[in-house]
Amino acid sequence: MRARYLVRIKTRLELEAFGDPLAALPTGPLVLGGGSNILFTKDVDKLVLRNEISGMEICGEDTDHVYVKTGAGENWHQFVLFCINQGLAGVENLSLIPGNTGASPMQNIGAYGVELKDVFHELEAWHIKDKAFVKFSNADCRFGYRESVFKRAVRDQFIITSVTYKLSRKPVFHIAYGAIEQELSQMGITELSIRAISDAVIRVRSSKLPDPAVIGNAGSFFKNPEIGQEQYEGLKLTYPKIVGYPLPGKQVKLAAGWLIEQAGWKGYREGDAGCHEKQALVLVNYGHATGREIFSLSEKIMEDVQVKFGVTLEREVNIY
Ligand SMILES: Cc1cc2nc3c(=O)[nH]c(=O)nc-3n(C[C@H](O)[C@H](O)[C@H](O)COP(=O)(O)OP(=O)(O)OC[C@H]3O[C@@H](n4cnc5c(N)ncnc54)[C@H](O)[C@@H]3O)c2cc1C
Repeated sequence: MRARYLVRIKTRLELEAFGDPLAALPTGPLVLGGGSNILFTKDVDKLVLRNEISGMEICGEDTDHVYVKTGAGENWHQFVLFCINQGLAGVENLSLIPGNTGASPMQNIGAYGVELKDVFHELEAWHIKDKAFVKFSNADCRFGYRESVFKRAVRDQFIITSVTYKLSRKPVFHIAYGAIEQELSQMGITELSIRAISDAVIRVRSSKLPDPAVIGNAGSFFKNPEIGQEQYEGLKLTYPKIVGYPLPGKQVKLAAGWLIEQAGWKGYREGDAGCHEKQALVLVNYGHATGREIFSLSEKIMEDVQVKFGVTLEREVNIY
């Protein structure tokens, strides 16, 4: 894919200096972090703004917490390692998630029972039209499951420049989710630590998820759908092994990967576009598939799941 214009921003001052031309653009820029959660289906006919603002520092402390501020262009996993090396807890379960810290609030990244919102303190973002920096608190971001205000109400209006996280001095371990507990025992860990959990998460992720550097992918392509209790009970009669997690308000979250696998798509390949053989939730590019081909495969899967289960899947990946 090609971009008509590309600008790389390395400091917030550079962004401020670029404020006038940016505000004058007929359509806002496409802000690019690490690019790990975007599927390009066509060339980009507008400005691509690559956010490369760096910096990582401890910016405050209280009795129980330490605050770490990162430039939006800092790599997420490097930030996780920084915290672990400083003995700061809260992000160990989120080890090895690809991408940059600036994108972490966009979809409230989450893994293994922890979400960004659990450690998020505040962020600073540039308002493109008002040409001003604005702060967002945790409540302002309206975080939800793979959701935030930046994907909805203020979509395409802000460029996130820095994020401040609130880490804990005293760890609270979350090991019940996924295969973490089992991995820890296989590693022979008898005393829990944030580093041991991070190592276990890295091992589990590396064994289950394809490395984007080897096989192109954007992680989970779909969100886990939420349905009403009644529909869930109905599905359970036909599919007793259906995977569902109860939510407040008589809702149930289904495992999208389970639905896709049951519908027979796991390991399916159409040219170079495929559904990963170990993780049905991940669509992969074996080499030369175009963005359109991956998108078209995702459409077929969504239609099939709708027909077979009456459940609407929603894409987690940002489509351009
Ligand atoms: C192998 C793999 C595993 C993954 N596992 C997980 C997982 O476990 N949990 C999870 O939640 N996600 C996961 N993801 C998705 C991805 O890692 C996250 O969404 C990540 O936060 C994307 O970061 P990025 O910098 O690459 O964002 P990009 O892909 O560059 O951008 C994502 C979106 O955010 C916008 N954006 C990016 N930076 C900014 C900014 N500074 N200001 C305003 N808008 C911005 C972009 O315009 C785009 O809409 C996975 C992806 C892969 C490839």
